[in-house]
Amino acid sequence: MDKTKIDWCDSTWNPVTGCMHGCEYCYARGIAERFGGKQKYANVFDLEEPIRGDDGIAKAYPHSFSPTFHRYRLNEYINKQGRNIFVCSMADLFGDWVPDSWVEEVFKACEKAPQHNYLFLTKNPARYISLARAEKLPKWKNMWYGSTITNQDMPAFFAKEFNTFWSIEPILEPFDRMDREKKELPDWIIVGSETGRKKEKVIPKREWIENILEDCRFRNVPVFMKSSLADIWGEPFIQEFPKGLKR
Ligand code: SF4
Repeated sequence: MDKTKIDWCDSTWNPVTGCMHGCEYCYARGIAERFGGKQKYANVFDLEEPIRGDDGIAKAYPHSFSPTFHRYRLNEYINKQGRNIFVCSMADLFGDWVPDSWVEEVFKACEKAPQHNYLFLTKNPARYISLARAEKLPKWKNMWYGSTITNQDMPAFFAKEFNTFWSIEPILEPFDRMDREKKELPDWIIVGSETGRKKEKVIPKREWIENILEDCRFRNVPVFMKSSLADIWGEPFIQEFPKGLKR
């Protein structure tokens, strides 16, 4: 169970860690490799119990950034006070390499602790669609299915019967996909810029954010600006939550 600096949730929960998407700007891989060392990410691992170091302390990333199911973490939030939980901030739970059974176990754990809101994020929203078609994607009111999109051609999940959100982060180009006629905006939009020290980092223009905001205002969709936009946006800073996630 982790407190977090991520400003759009209260806590993170990582029953699965690791990811094979290989995004250049990935902060999670950097953290996992700092503690777990660099490895080839070709296998997945399924752990009933934590792997401990010589000091007896459980290793957070025993297989570095290789996809790993930490079953012993499934009940971490069961008796905790209700909060907004970002599930698998250190993984893509919906990557094609993740077995359906892992996803189902995570959903079962969510069902056992219904006092929380659960926020998922993926770069593979096609998996939401295939799970939904198989009737394996819960429609519970406290489940929020997010898609990370950095460029406007990337696919994103939207379906009226589910809570959906898009995390446009890091925003890498002007973004005018919010087609007002199509009426296919999710329930919430998060926007943030690239962080870290990469030399060729993309610094978004203020007008890119203005365009997104304008379309969201038109459609009454709340917008949450990540603190990475503070210098670009200035005041008043906008950090809105959809009704179901208000704190
Ligand atoms: S999808 Fe997320 S966790 Fe996976 S490599 Fe990309 S940034 Fe990292």
